[in-house]
Amino acid sequence: MKDCIFCKIIRGEIPSERYYEDEDMIVIKDIEPKAKLHYLCIPKTHFALLSEMDGEKAELLKRCFEKIAALQEKLGLRDGYRIIVNQGENGGQSVRHLHIHLLGGEKLTGF
Ligand code: 5GP
Ligand code: ZN
Repeated sequence: MKDCIFCKIIRGEIPSERYYEDEDMIVIKDIEPKAKLHYLCIPKTHFALLSEMDGEKAELLKRCFEKIAALQEKLGLRDGYRIIVNQGENGGQSVRHLHIHLLGGEKLTGF
């Protein structure tokens, strides 16, 4: 999508360090980290909400979660991590391109 910041990052129009990339997704660090390690897993297909999910997008997200699990060690998250997927206004979603927050690198409190 033309004006989506994450689509621009995926297309390389905004530079980013990619900790992982394949045909389905990229993994970058969040620009405003909320934990010692804070990554964003961004699927390459633009859609905002889980409620927009069809079979194809469900398969895409399934692969993303499988790959996140396989990347745990490489990302320095071997002792555990937290996944957050903010949805819509009340969920605090500021970028309307579905993404998976990965938080870790320390013992997380709260929630
Ligand atoms: P949301 O609030 O939509 O769940 O998460 C969006 C996240 O994207 C925020 O944590 C914000 O810090 C991050 N973010 C916004 N713009 C950029 C950017 O240009 N680069 C990176 N790496 N992260 C961004
Ligand atoms: Zn997008």
